Amino acid sequence: MNKPCMLSLRDLSHIKIGEDTSHLYFPKSFDDLINLYQKYHNTNKIIPLGGCSNILFGNTEHHVLISDKYIPWKFILEKTKEDNNLLTISPNININVLIKKLAEYNLGGLEFLSGIPANMGGLVAMNAGAYQKQIGDYVHSIKVANQDGIKTFRKEDCHFSYRKSSINGFIVEITLNVEKVDKGIVLSKMRENIDKRRQSQPLNMPNIGCFFKNPENNSAGRLIDSCGLKGYAVGDAMVSYEHANFLINKGQASFKEMLTLIDKIKSEVKRKYNIELELEIKIINE
Ligand SMILES: Cc1cc2nc3c(=O)[nH]c(=O)nc-3n(C[C@H](O)[C@H](O)[C@H](O)COP(=O)(O)OP(=O)(O)OC[C@H]3O[C@@H](n4cnc5c(N)ncnc54)[C@H](O)[C@@H]3O)c2cc1C
Repeated sequence: MNKPCMLSLRDLSHIKIGEDTSHLYFPKSFDDLINLYQKYHNTNKIIPLGGCSNILFGNTEHHVLISDKYIPWKFILEKTKEDNNLLTISPNININVLIKKLAEYNLGGLEFLSGIPANMGGLVAMNAGAYQKQIGDYVHSIKVANQDGIKTFRKEDCHFSYRKSSINGFIVEITLNVEKVDKGIVLSKMRENIDKRRQSQPLNMPNIGCFFKNPENNSAGRLIDSCGLKGYAVGDAMVSYEHANFLINKGQASFKEMLTLIDKIKSEVKRKYNIELELEIKIINE
């Protein structure tokens, strides 16, 4: 049933910022999901939600937020004639759960994403990546739902680029190419990558990963750091000491404080380097 839930977006959001909303839906079937698109696509901005590890919520009054939480679960492995391993999954599988599950079959390839607190739908929509690899390279095809029903798109139709895709609608199914890798290797790569993240990222504080995209041949974190902004705070919104591209919530940071901090960083980097930083995170507001 498509009843909206009254919930605090603060609880949902990985950075623990957000107001109460009555525009949040948890469809349990594809029909429910399509009905929501049909009902609201002309009047509201519809936002699919995964792990909310890359979203900053502001005023969501005019949005319809749709969670992937109860989308029908799927995990199907298939070997093709070319000895390629195709994996078909639902979007709501957490990447770390998936990597461990694939390891049981001596399959892998996705370990570069280990430690990211995200779901597969969000990772594919954002073409998430790390260590010069991106999830789009592993996508075979996806199924996307919207007001017109469900359509299949091949990888080429998704136009994956740096933290971007052209996907418009709710990803309900993802088919990936996965590689034959020994279980032990998968698990040790996973541990290694998680350790690296622990050493360089403020994982003990609410955050949503890197706020800004890296400008070409440059690092947003290094630029912010060299502007002397590590530790700079607006209320409880602060530039992390561990990684300058991570903005953290020290406790009760508000949306407005985060926006002020973002503006400060952008203007300092522009003033010192004449570089316009572009946001990597998604701001849902008005
Ligand atoms: C500690 C930490 C480390 C991180 N490290 C990395 C990193 O190394 N590399 C990297 O790229 N990112 C990183 N991120 C950012 C984030 O995890 C990724 O952007 C990820 O892709 C977001 O996935 P999600 O499920 O949380 O999506 P959400 O944050 O819920 O949504 C992100 C975007 O995807 C869309 N979306 C979500 N689900 C669907 C769906 N089913 N269908 C269509 N659209 C959908 C949303 O509408 C939104 O536009 C990190 C975040 C954190 C908190």
